Amino acid sequence: MLNPIIPHTDEITQIKVPLPFPLRWVNAYLVRGSRGYTVIDPGLHTPDAEALWQQALQELGIAYEHIEQIVLTHHHPDHYGMAGWFQARTGAPVLLSETGLRQVRLMWNGEQPMSALLLELFARHGLPQAALEEMTKHMASFVELVSPQPEVTLLREGHVRLGDRVYEAIETPGHAAGHLVFYDAEAETIFCGDHVLPQISPNVSFLPQVEDNPLGAYLRSLADMAALKVKMAYPGHREPWSGFSARAEELVRHHHERLALMEDQLSAPLSAYEVCRATFGERLSIHQLRFALSETIAHLVLLEADGRIRQLALDNGVHRFVRR
Ligand SMILES: [Zn+2]
Ligand SMILES: [Zn+2]
Repeated sequence: MLNPIIPHTDEITQIKVPLPFPLRWVNAYLVRGSRGYTVIDPGLHTPDAEALWQQALQELGIAYEHIEQIVLTHHHPDHYGMAGWFQARTGAPVLLSETGLRQVRLMWNGEQPMSALLLELFARHGLPQAALEEMTKHMASFVELVSPQPEVTLLREGHVRLGDRVYEAIETPGHAAGHLVFYDAEAETIFCGDHVLPQISPNVSFLPQVEDNPLGAYLRSLADMAALKVKMAYPGHREPWSGFSARAEELVRHHHERLALMEDQLSAPLSAYEVCRATFGERLSIHQLRFALSETIAHLVLLEADGRIRQLALDNGVHRFVRR
């Protein structure tokens, strides 16, 4: 990676924290203020990420005691994973939404109840047995990448101070339930996490016991975002860019096109797994398959809620869907 430490303004520095996935890096941001630094989304906890943070803090002349708070847009491991590491060194509070914290507990505490819930969901939607077994191991592998886990201070919608400026924390569900973006209306800048990304279509997953219709929630919150005035957006992946509102609108169109495509595929009954393979192809890693299948289910849930498709009775324990 070219230089991973990129100053954007007097206050805002982007840190590209490495990821062992095709995404390659997650953007953390340091926001400087008179009371210290805010770290937004510190990254996935790996030895490479630790090394980069040590290098970045040293180059920027920031001591651990200068870190005032760690603020999370959402609970996904590539954003949340280093929060506990930072808290152990700085004693700083880690701020996350209540819905985010609930999912952290479902995913990584104790017996990791989300793993069992997800596997049961995937089995009902036709994922073959061999993939189910691989998926179990894959999900367990994330625990060490988010450990040690921080003590969380709840962050609610409303005002939040990052550095010396007050931002509006706006709940933006869809990519993740409880996702927050931080918007500065005066400067027309936004830290948008993974809600809107340039070039990449953020994953929208159906997860048991989290949100009934995540894609419906996503399309609504994208419409809200498209109405904001934004000159510069700081995303969770790729590079900061200026076309935020247009991109939010483009993502809405993208999902409507995909919904129409899936609806067409269902002129004959198919399981979500079969729709997933037809849409995303056969060459997926287990990591990609997990997100592709959850995303397919999210689309089918919306089509069913809108009365465009219906679910057939279980056949060998698997649901099939067909166009109305
Ligand atoms: Zn995410
Ligand atoms: Zn991410």
